[in-house]
Amino acid sequence: MLLFMVNNTALTPQNHVCYKQATTITSGSMRCPKCGCQEDKVIDSRASREGATIRRRRECLQCTHRFTTYEEVEHEGLMVLKRDNRREEFSRDKLLSGIRKACQKRPVSLKAMEDLVDHIVAVVTAKYESEVPGDAIGKMVMDGLRELDDVAYVRFASVYRRFQEATDFVQEVQKLEATK
Ligand SMILES: [Zn+2]
Repeated sequence: MLLFMVNNTALTPQNHVCYKQATTITSGSMRCPKCGCQEDKVIDSRASREGATIRRRRECLQCTHRFTTYEEVEHEGLMVLKRDNRREEFSRDKLLSGIRKACQKRPVSLKAMEDLVDHIVAVVTAKYESEVPGDAIGKMVMDGLRELDDVAYVRFASVYRRFQEATDFVQEVQKLEATK
């Protein structure tokens, strides 16, 4: 659930502003907490927490009351549903660090890893509204790594599949060996 606050009061659903990170930010109007007018102008916008939150200073066009809104970039609210049914916030950084670990000392450029992460983020944010199964992400990482580097793929798969079936990993290695 995304949280939007105006002067420390949670907004009603009609005041929610959602947007995808990739789209141009158009500042929709908020209801003025003082007079209820829905027309305002944004007088200042600034991003915080590495762009995850955008703080806007607004002024009501009717009564000139000034108030502040906080908007969260949509994928920041996306939750990953794990196998043990726990949920954790979807994190681009975490995704990238997992991929970097798998690619350690392998001939894979950081650019290629970031491209893979961007691709996964794009698919995930387009396809899932509020919750994405961890398995879906794991599979995309494996598919991506398989194209980039065999060793990185096996490394990732070995860690990833440890929580599934031990035999899966052996099968994956056998499959790789068979194709060489
Ligand atoms: Zn007003």
